[in-house]
Amino acid sequence: MEKFQQSMYDLIVETSTKLPKDVRRAIARAKARENAGTRAAMALNTIVENIQMADENVSPICQDTGLPTFKIKVPVGVNQIEMKKAIRAAIVEATKNGKLRPNSVDSLTGKNSGDNLGEGVPVIKFEQWENDYIDVRLILKGGGCENKNIQYSLPCELEGLGRAGRDLDGIRKCILHAVYQAQGQGCSAGFIGVGIGGDRSSGYELAKEQLFRPVDDVNPIEELRQLEEYMMENANKLGIGTMGFGGESTLLGCKIGVMHRIPASFFVSVAYNCWAFRRMGVKIDPATGEIIEWLYQDGEDVDFAKELEKAEAAAALEQGDTRVIDLVPPLSEEQVRQLRVGDVVRISGVIYTGRDAIHKYLMDHDAPVDLNGQIIYHCGPVMLKDEEGRWHAKAAGPTTSIREEPYQGDIMKKFGVRAVIGKGGMGAKTLQALKEHGGVYLNAIGGAAQYYADCIKSVEGVDLLEFGIPEAMWHLRVENFTAVVTMDSHGNSLHEDVEKSSLEKLAQFKEPVFK
Ligand code: SF4
Repeated sequence: MEKFQQSMYDLIVETSTKLPKDVRRAIARAKARENAGTRAAMALNTIVENIQMADENVSPICQDTGLPTFKIKVPVGVNQIEMKKAIRAAIVEATKNGKLRPNSVDSLTGKNSGDNLGEGVPVIKFEQWENDYIDVRLILKGGGCENKNIQYSLPCELEGLGRAGRDLDGIRKCILHAVYQAQGQGCSAGFIGVGIGGDRSSGYELAKEQLFRPVDDVNPIEELRQLEEYMMENANKLGIGTMGFGGESTLLGCKIGVMHRIPASFFVSVAYNCWAFRRMGVKIDPATGEIIEWLYQDGEDVDFAKELEKAEAAAALEQGDTRVIDLVPPLSEEQVRQLRVGDVVRISGVIYTGRDAIHKYLMDHDAPVDLNGQIIYHCGPVMLKDEEGRWHAKAAGPTTSIREEPYQGDIMKKFGVRAVIGKGGMGAKTLQALKEHGGVYLNAIGGAAQYYADCIKSVEGVDLLEFGIPEAMWHLRVENFTAVVTMDSHGNSLHEDVEKSSLEKLAQFKEPVFK
């Protein structure tokens, strides 16, 4: 079991820090499709740089290392109880070493267990089979994309698409709608797994199962093969693009599975996965516990270092119309009102992290620091303390901002906050507050946790650590932290614009395709 535990540790580290070859190829294809000089191209360049840095640093690709889910097939006679213990020990070790963020929270008390263990965490599912080796697959799926999963009960009416009936064409409409509703909030461009049939829980299970299929495989069921191809051809026409910035690449992969259902129910379940598609697998020798083979490693690898050289060369040619503005907090209202949607900002100075727990807390407490003119960063970083007691940010990308929508505008006004950084954009209430108060929303590149960790030059302090590492308020000194203005103080929102135009584009898919 000692060897098996080490194998599981290696699997966790590899999954968290290195994207498999099939995913890398899909990202490279998306990058090739994107037009140089656009915001989407810039976002993809950052993503590629981030992948490269995670490879080199053996650090988490994204700070949200998700809910670890293991799917294991074992020959008869293998001791599953001991395997579970070994996996849990490997999870604790990986968390201690900063390869996983402490992500397991008591749903009633909100307390973070600190070691990624808890009721039902990690998820470990066993199945017996007749092969003589153990097959272990692991997926680390973060909250931003998990929150964009969606389930349809057919027949139903879909925004932009009309009625979706209980047939292949109805399923087609549901999948298109699933891509549309995700917008950039699940860190597009994304991969989707679709489960047709089952009940509410087995449908989702089937959808997630599809995410374990290689990106380049071909569906053996002819109708589903056609549907998968159709989605890959057409979903990108919605123009949502990387991070929801608009652009050519919205969908990186689509895998569809089917199971029986009862006559009264017809569910289509969609599991959305961000570009940081961290799933890996190994074959294990049951006698020794050693890894015999790594999965998802077939085919050509992508040399992202070369891709980066090309991107830099293109960027040099592209300076174009984009305004690049340096910001040093505290910011004045006047400074912020000069910013417009589309501007790129480079921040140097101290910024403060704050996500769900901090926003709820600030509604009826004083802030632990003077936030007047300051910048709040929606981020739950991976932090490690060194032997001298100093904290270091190991991964620090943005988290989904829309969760803070009920609080954000009020907090900005109450404390004089001038800017928030996050990803995926915010809603009408925040947009109104930005206008009234003089504030701005800055979209960082979701999942680019290494890229942003590199901008953090020191951790100057922390407050409210009792909320747990991801939820605490970290004071981060950053240099050249780059983000895009996507909501400004003049009532403009890139997110609103992209949502509107993608809804219009969705209407072109209203007519039946599969009879
Ligand atoms: S890339 Fe985005 S959606 Fe995916 S885990 Fe990271 S923050 Fe969440």
